[in-house]
Amino acid sequence: MDLIVFTDLDGSLLNEADYSYEEARPALAQLETTGALLVIATSKTRAEVEALRAELGNDAPFIVENGGGLFVPAHRTDITGGEEVPGADLRVVTVGRPYAELRAFLTEAAGRWPLRGFGDMDDAEVAERCGLPLPAAALARRREFSEPFVCDDPEAIAALTETARAAGLDVTRGGRFHHLIGAGQSKGRALETLLAALPDSPEGRRTVALGDSENDRSMLAAADVAVVIPRPDGRRLDLAHPGRIDAPAPGARGWGLAVTGLLAQGQG
Ligand SMILES: [Mg+2]
Repeated sequence: MDLIVFTDLDGSLLNEADYSYEEARPALAQLETTGALLVIATSKTRAEVEALRAELGNDAPFIVENGGGLFVPAHRTDITGGEEVPGADLRVVTVGRPYAELRAFLTEAAGRWPLRGFGDMDDAEVAERCGLPLPAAALARRREFSEPFVCDDPEAIAALTETARAAGLDVTRGGRFHHLIGAGQSKGRALETLLAALPDSPEGRRTVALGDSENDRSMLAAADVAVVIPRPDGRRLDLAHPGRIDAPAPGARGWGLAVTGLLAQGQG
């Protein structure tokens, strides 16, 4: 049985507060020995994920910007589809909308409503608004499939959302920002896109997803096993799923314990 593990990063594999995955290391090592595919699925950008993948030695496909894009290592010729990414050993499947289209829409919208996107800010402003070090803010600004923006006027947001939907786009609310994305874009849709592009699995395939937040819901729902990781305050995503497992702790510790438990039960 082939095992594919899809994981969220912030608040799941990475601790919410310190971004550490130290406590998940034993489980990551154990997972690697099983030959399972560990697919990162995050709201972060490709530039942010590539730094972590290099650290982890992860060579699997990965999902960025809340399902906007699916990247596949170029050598994975067994996985179909995608276009070559200039300057990278990757192919990309665009699940959402390209950034240039989102920026064009938002630039026009900025003439009607009071808003500012990442494309209007410099690294220093993004660093300050996100509480990130400057180099990390630079990576977060390398958008390809979604545009975070600030807008303090609820009426403007409502009108903008309506206009976006008419244009095949959508607006979602994140922790610090609103996000302009492609209509129907989600981590779950990107998961399905990857599964459809994989070669047939003669022994069958089992999918596990791990996540902590609303933006993980579609991905958790689409997997055979849904590991719900609690938030640091103990709250959990409300999700009805026949294969639901509640991780016993938040962040990397809960992630590690849940994965180790699954592998011990032979669910891997
Ligand atoms: Mg999260």
